[in-house]
Amino acid sequence: MQPIVFADLDDTLFQTRAKCPKGSQHKLALAAISSNGHHSMMTPRQVAMIDWLLSTSQVIPVTARGTTAYGNVKIAFNSYAIVANGAVILKPDGAHLKEWHDVISKELIPHREALNKVLEVGRQGAAAGKMSVRSWIVEEMEMATYAVFKENNGDGKRLAELKFEFDDAGWIRHHNGNNFALIPPPVSKRRAVEFLLKKIRSESGDRPAIGFGDSASDLGYLNLCDWWGAPSRSQISAMLNVPTKTFFADLA
Ligand SMILES: [Mg+2]
Repeated sequence: MQPIVFADLDDTLFQTRAKCPKGSQHKLALAAISSNGHHSMMTPRQVAMIDWLLSTSQVIPVTARGTTAYGNVKIAFNSYAIVANGAVILKPDGAHLKEWHDVISKELIPHREALNKVLEVGRQGAAAGKMSVRSWIVEEMEMATYAVFKENNGDGKRLAELKFEFDDAGWIRHHNGNNFALIPPPVSKRRAVEFLLKKIRSESGDRPAIGFGDSASDLGYLNLCDWWGAPSRSQISAMLNVPTKTFFADLA
């Protein structure tokens, strides 16, 4: 039975050039283009890992990237893809999976107002704290899926200063590096993985599932898999207090 691999993308299978080890720059391969010029790159080991996964497994990306940003990824994935933090499941042909959209689109309607408020309050808080941020709501198929804040001139640590006072029961606050997202209750990578895993296993047998991710917020879906792994330099590894100094060190 072919394993199913659920893999986060950014900071799991590739990262921006700035995060790649010094001295390896000439060996990097393009993973995803970015409109701001900060393209994502893969080290030779990451290329080999992805080649191995694709040749042996059914690889399903699980990413916060919306459909458009996912379209900028240059890796030849050929199965389903879970995008926008789970708000959308794409089929192998790139079209959305209607049975998931039918579930999530109805559930998101009551949260649109709260998302607009979150954006407004976050922007006001940033202005009050003299923090330069860019922020937006990730829109997918006329659904407001989640809110994102990024610092313009910093590493993202100050984003933790943003305060949001509202009934946030069930909301996910994802903060890793310069990426702060507020995700309403219907949207989660875990729910989408759970839905898709059940569907795939019902169609093609009780196949093993393996997960990869780097962020604390990935643990929800990683725990649905039979095995999971994280890069040794990642938020998850830091939480587990794993020494990280060897990651990439001998590439430099
Ligand atoms: Mg990630």
